[in-house]
Amino acid sequence: MKQKKIAIFTSGGDAQGMNAAVRAVVRTGLERGAEVYAIYEGYQGLVDGGERIRKMDWDSVGGILQLGGTVIGTARSKEFMTRDGRRQAARNLIEHGISGIIVIGGDGSLTGANIFRQEWPSLVAELVESGAISAEAAQEYSNLSIVGLVGSIDNDFHGTDMTIGADTALHRITEAMDAITSTAASHQRTFVVKVMGRNCGYLALMGALASGADWVLIPEAPPDVDNWKDVMAERLKAGRKAGRRDSIVILAEGAQDRHGKYIGSTEVQQALEERLGEEVRVTVLGHVQRGGRPSAFDRNLGTLMGYEAVEIILNARPEDEPVVIGIKNNRMTRLPLMESVLKTQAVAEAIAEKDYERAMSLRSSSFSDAFKTLRTMVRALPHPVDAGRKHFRIAVLNAGAPAPGMNTAARAAIRYGLDQGHVMLGIRNGFEGLANGEIEEMSWMSVSGWASMGGSVLGTNRKIPKGKDFYGMAREIEKNHIDALLFIGGWTAYLAANAMMVNRANFPAFNIPIVCLPASINNNLPGSEFSIGADTALNSIVDAVDKIKMSAGATRRCFVVEVMGHHCGYLALMGGMATGAERVYLPEDGVSLRDLQNDVELLKRGFKTGKRLGLMIRSEHANAVYTTSFMCSLFEEEGHDLFDVRPAILGHLQQGGDPSPFDRIQANRLACLCVEALVDECSRDGLRVSFIGMQDGKIQFHDMRDFERVINAENLRPREQWWLGLKHITSLLAQHGPSQGA
Ligand code: ADP
Repeated sequence: MKQKKIAIFTSGGDAQGMNAAVRAVVRTGLERGAEVYAIYEGYQGLVDGGERIRKMDWDSVGGILQLGGTVIGTARSKEFMTRDGRRQAARNLIEHGISGIIVIGGDGSLTGANIFRQEWPSLVAELVESGAISAEAAQEYSNLSIVGLVGSIDNDFHGTDMTIGADTALHRITEAMDAITSTAASHQRTFVVKVMGRNCGYLALMGALASGADWVLIPEAPPDVDNWKDVMAERLKAGRKAGRRDSIVILAEGAQDRHGKYIGSTEVQQALEERLGEEVRVTVLGHVQRGGRPSAFDRNLGTLMGYEAVEIILNARPEDEPVVIGIKNNRMTRLPLMESVLKTQAVAEAIAEKDYERAMSLRSSSFSDAFKTLRTMVRALPHPVDAGRKHFRIAVLNAGAPAPGMNTAARAAIRYGLDQGHVMLGIRNGFEGLANGEIEEMSWMSVSGWASMGGSVLGTNRKIPKGKDFYGMAREIEKNHIDALLFIGGWTAYLAANAMMVNRANFPAFNIPIVCLPASINNNLPGSEFSIGADTALNSIVDAVDKIKMSAGATRRCFVVEVMGHHCGYLALMGGMATGAERVYLPEDGVSLRDLQNDVELLKRGFKTGKRLGLMIRSEHANAVYTTSFMCSLFEEEGHDLFDVRPAILGHLQQGGDPSPFDRIQANRLACLCVEALVDECSRDGLRVSFIGMQDGKIQFHDMRDFERVINAENLRPREQWWLGLKHITSLLAQHGPSQGA
């Protein structure tokens, strides 16, 4: 069979993670036996042809994973908007023998792709007619396959939970917001921060939720009253009175009032200055949101989407309609290209027509949930207690190793519960604290500032209660009239909740509903594909490895980087995917002597043929005997003068740090659902013990009675781990031919 030729290009606004997608497309394509071209400068390159259409090899996409923007360039092309331009583009593709294109861009670029494909037969016919191509060529290229990937920092595309670049933009926003919050709090100042998003309030909304901002203005949900400026100012004043030291308003670029009039940052500034009687500062974040290195999530999203795109395009049949690749509940999906573009544009139209309800309904459920949660979180004080409703005493506890996002979850749970009139108790120092009666009533302002804080303010430890601890715990539960418990933590929390359930006959006080919320950097908890903290840890790993790689300079060096994870290889595998490690050692697979011998050969072969940098990522418990230092010694000895080897044990930097936006958003979402479930259970006199998590496409509560069935008790990890299915992609992209890696 003739070798298939495919091409990739990036178009429209650049977005971080596009390079990961380009790398994945090129390498997967080569691996599958295709010839792969990159078209430089988007559609303009397609029209220009010549030097702009370049054949790629394995190494042409080396070392680009960590770069922001797009290394193959992007442009807005007026010529491609014309038929003449598109005819020329068709001619260039046919002359290169390219029969499939992968487009990474926003809805504009994907619309262009769709028009191109619809016109393809007529463009080809015109080319034959004018003698530009032969009838045989026309016959051979009678069809053009197209696959789209959405690269857009706005996260504004219908049908996908995330677009490439949105997570990184949120990283930039939360970093800026955290910095602004600390200066604003020091001076008790008011800030207005403007973020990108013309038709989509995603960045503003999630940025506000993640940073604990006090007010948000987004296009999909304009203020519902005309005197919104008064309402906003009153709220901010009330917040100050309640003890808040700063006031922060986030404004999306496309925010408007309910008459469709755009709201500018100066307008908000003036409105607040007049009403608050103080100076108000404005920060327009602008292009920093597009800048910087891509987050771990965007690198892996780009990689997985790029891989998927090649699988589709190489198996495409002529009659297949073009598709866009999306991600829905953590799984790759294929969306019909034009239908998705039209639905995306429908949101903009709904906003233009001031049909905000429809605009909101076209967004995902997590978007509207987040908006609801935010409205609770930004309150200056909770709603007044409704005397007609039953209220409960709900206690929140952190357990296990600290995980970034624990505070965010505790804050959200406490405020959500308080807002509904419940008494929220904070238990200090995990189960030890519970047994010792370190319990206090939490107020609305007691959790102020927790949204962005790493570590655990309540205090946490890894002591799993047993035997006599239960007496103390039962006594304190009774003494404090605790109606329900929320445990935020890792295995310590889950094992304790299970033990309490099992010991109910001996300790009647344990007959109350309990929910565990997964918070562990290791991402090793049952019933949940993501635990809070894992995304932050992954980003810490990626940051560290980026620096380690840069340190290699001109020497030929191999690093063996050891990451955490206990008996779960999640951080190692996903960290390896995001950094381009050529080998990942997982506890799930173990390490054999034969593996190590093969790896020595792999390294030797690589360094002999020009490789300068080797990167191996080893999960801390991949093998008890073949430790990181053992492996380093082995590689060093066998590498002789060819290369040297350095260990890098990342250690606790993985547990620290401020939580990533994703961890903060998840923490908010899960915590509110947990409190809701506990209240529901209390209202029905239920006693259910459960653990929450996003799994198989939805957030669900799992019954603790199923706990033993779904865990691998010996290794403290879930029996089924979704991410193991991605192993082949990591190794495919990093190892190939003579000079592997990065
Ligand atoms: P984005 O892809 O980020 O939405 P644009 O809307 O600017 O960015 O589109 C990028 C490029 O895609 C345009 O400059 C143009 O070359 C091409 N394009 C967009 N819309 C069309 C269209 N209707 N027909 C042909 N090409 C289009």
